[in-house]
Amino acid sequence: MKNISRRHFLYCSAGLVCSALPARAFWPFTAISEASGPVDIRGRVFRSDAPKHLWKWSHEGFLYKKINNSNVVCQICPNQCVLAPGDRSICRSKVNKNGTLYSLVYGNPCSVNIDPVEKKPLFHFLPRSKTFSIATAGCNFRCLNCQNWEISQAKPHEVRSYELFPQDVVNEAQRSSISSIAYTYSEPIAFFEYMIDTARLARERKIYNLLISNGYINQEPLLALCKVLDGANINLKSLSDTIYRKLNGGRLDPVLNTFKTLHEQGVHFEMTNLVVPGYTDDTEMVKQMCQWILTHLGPNYPLHFLRFFPKYKLDRLPPTPLSTLIKFRKLAMSEGIRYVYVGNVSFPEGNNTYCHNCNKLVVERIGYFIPSYHMDENRCKYCKTVIPGRWT
Ligand code: SF4
Repeated sequence: MKNISRRHFLYCSAGLVCSALPARAFWPFTAISEASGPVDIRGRVFRSDAPKHLWKWSHEGFLYKKINNSNVVCQICPNQCVLAPGDRSICRSKVNKNGTLYSLVYGNPCSVNIDPVEKKPLFHFLPRSKTFSIATAGCNFRCLNCQNWEISQAKPHEVRSYELFPQDVVNEAQRSSISSIAYTYSEPIAFFEYMIDTARLARERKIYNLLISNGYINQEPLLALCKVLDGANINLKSLSDTIYRKLNGGRLDPVLNTFKTLHEQGVHFEMTNLVVPGYTDDTEMVKQMCQWILTHLGPNYPLHFLRFFPKYKLDRLPPTPLSTLIKFRKLAMSEGIRYVYVGNVSFPEGNNTYCHNCNKLVVERIGYFIPSYHMDENRCKYCKTVIPGRWT
């Protein structure tokens, strides 16, 4: 018989007890966690935390202003970090060195993978294709539930990194015959300079660019990015500014503006809503979110409700019950959103694509695998209705 440690025994026992209890049995913990938390968890600038010397992967910031000769203000995201010489930004990846703003992560990703595009999740963008995925350390949010906190809440020197300059990324994608590059995992807005230079090169070589992001970005850099962007998955964490402040350390309005801009610029995007018990599982809020989407963006952008798993600072909460995800999917569809999925859970009806006109199954999914496909280019094979997205 296999020996197990005391810690492992306790862990397994807790798992058995947890799985035997209904989700609501955790409710008191959920309530305490939410009610007693701070009302705004936004990040702070790290004073006098810049490394002594710049390194090979330091690159001057693209959009910033100098103030008072030595201070700088970064204009990439709504945090608008004001940095005195020697300070490090909220996203941890930028510093003020002698009155100049530098990104410390240019060409220095800590995650490099080849993923199925369905993993992003992007269900209406070149199904079955692979995407070359990169991320660096850092994020402009402080989500209590972060799934990638080991890299998003780390400083560049705290993680193991690779050297991969924009040219190298594009070469690697091309060498492997991969049709897109995804800026993903942590928060690409925190490595904006590296992302946009890579994306411009990729566009020249006819490789698609995908942004997987919290959408917390200012208008000017977003418009510049839209010129080379082919697809995006943007998190809509909630339709409540209060939840954005206390769960994510951000604000709602800039994210809503990002959706409107992507819509106006004709970029295909999909929306992700992580359903966190006690925070973002309020039915009335989800209804309002759907109504906002329909009013400002229309019915065609796919919406993914993702299952939450205990993680990072919310490791005492239960996973989202499947019944909640199914309820929200039904609600969103009854409100008028045409393509609504559930993710991080196996539920065939919520993982497949059904034509919004004839309701026939056009893309069947089992995990990231697509066993059957009934599209004729960008149309339903049965009734010839155009299905929104980029299919070929
Ligand atoms: S991108 Fe980073 S440095 Fe720039 S404003 Fe946002 S958090 Fe601050």
